[in-house]
Amino acid sequence: MAENFFLDNKDLRFHLRNVDLEEVVRFRERDFRDALDFPDAPESFADALDSYEQVLKMLGELCGEFIAPRARSVDLEGAKLENGKVSYAKATVENLDVLKKAELLGVTLPRKYGGLNMPSTLYSMMMEMVSRADASLQNLVGLQDIGETIYRFGTEEQRMNYLPRFASGEVDGAMVLTEPEAGSDLQSVQLKATQDPKTGQWYLNGMKRFITNGCASVHLVLARSEEGTKDGRGLSMFVCEKTPGLKVRRIEEKLGIHGSPTCELQYVNVPAELVGSRRRGLTRYVMSLMNGARIAISAQAIGIAEAAYREALEYAGAREQFGKTIDNFPAVYEMLVRSKVNIVAARTLLYETTKYVDLRDNYEHWVDHGEPETVTAEVKERSKFYSKVAAVLTPLSKACSTELANKVAYDGLQVHGGTGYMKDFNAERYARDARITNIYEGTTQLQHIAAIGGVTQRVLDPLMDEISHLPFQGKLRRLASAVDMGRERLKHAAAYVLSRDDSEYQLLMATRLCNIETAIFSGYLLLRDAFADESRTPLAERYIREALPVVEQDCAVVMSGDYSIIDNKKDILDM
Ligand SMILES: Cc1cc2nc3c(=O)[nH]c(=O)nc-3n(C[C@H](O)[C@H](O)[C@H](O)COP(=O)(O)OP(=O)(O)OC[C@H]3O[C@@H](n4cnc5c(N)ncnc54)[C@H](O)[C@@H]3O)c2cc1C
Repeated sequence: MAENFFLDNKDLRFHLRNVDLEEVVRFRERDFRDALDFPDAPESFADALDSYEQVLKMLGELCGEFIAPRARSVDLEGAKLENGKVSYAKATVENLDVLKKAELLGVTLPRKYGGLNMPSTLYSMMMEMVSRADASLQNLVGLQDIGETIYRFGTEEQRMNYLPRFASGEVDGAMVLTEPEAGSDLQSVQLKATQDPKTGQWYLNGMKRFITNGCASVHLVLARSEEGTKDGRGLSMFVCEKTPGLKVRRIEEKLGIHGSPTCELQYVNVPAELVGSRRRGLTRYVMSLMNGARIAISAQAIGIAEAAYREALEYAGAREQFGKTIDNFPAVYEMLVRSKVNIVAARTLLYETTKYVDLRDNYEHWVDHGEPETVTAEVKERSKFYSKVAAVLTPLSKACSTELANKVAYDGLQVHGGTGYMKDFNAERYARDARITNIYEGTTQLQHIAAIGGVTQRVLDPLMDEISHLPFQGKLRRLASAVDMGRERLKHAAAYVLSRDDSEYQLLMATRLCNIETAIFSGYLLLRDAFADESRTPLAERYIREALPVVEQDCAVVMSGDYSIIDNKKDILDM
């Protein structure tokens, strides 16, 4: 049977049918009035779901049959820089061509610009499958987020200029933020944008580094437009096309994702256009761009984890030691079960996150562009609420999925024993590819800094309350009560940290509190999923039984008020 990364993934299929997207789709399709103007637009929610399923099936087959079998050659060949020109591995070129011909690029863009008007949730499912096949390809395809940013913040002229070309695959993109002295701290960006006072034309001058696909034809660049400023308020966002003044100086030799070139760039008088308003480059547009990219990386991480887990499972079922296959040994099957359960948990968290991202986008659009009489106080209130929820869930999901991918890939290699360390299997590639996911688009530490405010302010409590009040029975009720108790501990721990009124202690406890929040919320989501489909009860049970003792232990550490690491760090490090 043909390999199909959608049809063979029961969990992904469950989410397609169970993430409640009706409101999201209805809004995006203008109450299905888009169908009057575009023959391919759905006429109802059921129709939309069917067409999403068709797209996922088609991509699932391409991923299983075409892209995945080429991933090893992409990894070995990698991208190259010769005479100032970057070339992809041969199979990467073929993969991109296949996706382009299948019209699977720019899918979230409105139909008017050549897209399929798909919600972020569907796009994330697509990114997950592409990454399972070849993580480095996802980096190139995922740069579609650039088109989304131009759509949201650009002028209509810019939209018409760029978006149809993104959707057709005529142009590709790069997201150009990082500089040698500006990594996590993007407020320090120095690349200069200057405006010719006579013509009004902007020009870019300076260096950027670590830019994925920096060889792309369209760049979205964060630059300092306000001379004399030092912080984020002096930065603006620009779009520019490849010109002779834009040079790729080198590409990095790196641990993984070899198919995706990571470039050092030099801009010399490169003409550019301002996107949106001056000074809002970092505070508004990059935050929006990065949040979209964080979701894509969360999906990338789950895709890698899925691939690593499946390979380990297959190997463990075939490899014999001591007269039986190694999947009979508790130490081995525990690794496999833990991997599976944690992937399922990270996936339900991801698609809950994308649902709220979709709702936030809809409501923000409504508030900004809706008929004034329809923008009621309730609409504004909901817009604010969804925005707060998405702002907490996005970094939590990114941190959770990417740390998980590393763990699953690590355990997957371990299941292979010495063979896993060799190039004979993909296990070592998955471990190398996973390693970047918790670094780019903001390291895990930075995700926790982004999420901690929402965790201590208990932004997700209304969502948890709703699940907690479902009419669970029997085992699910008992598990839900246990999660409720874990949440009470978390609330005390969060209140305790706030009561210390000490920012260093709060930052020190941020990772633990975010991990506890993720465990509790994911526990609730798995219970809700098991309520919808009883066969998922063992997944929920296993996750909760493993997570709650850790929650208890971490809450105890948070509430200990132990300052010994803060007080003694210098003595310890100097010893
Ligand atoms: C393969 C690859 C592809 C990339 N692609 C792109 C791209 O397409 N576009 C782009 O603009 N950038 C890209 N980047 C850059 C990437 O986003 C940065 O590397 C990343 O954000 C971290 O920045 P940094 O490397 O400067 O590390 P640093 O910021 O120097 O961080 C070093 C360490 O300090 C920690 N740290 C820093 N500040 C804090 C803090 N306040 N609190 C707690 N811990 C902190 C970090 O967590 C990390 O552990 C890419 C990087 C790589 C490696």
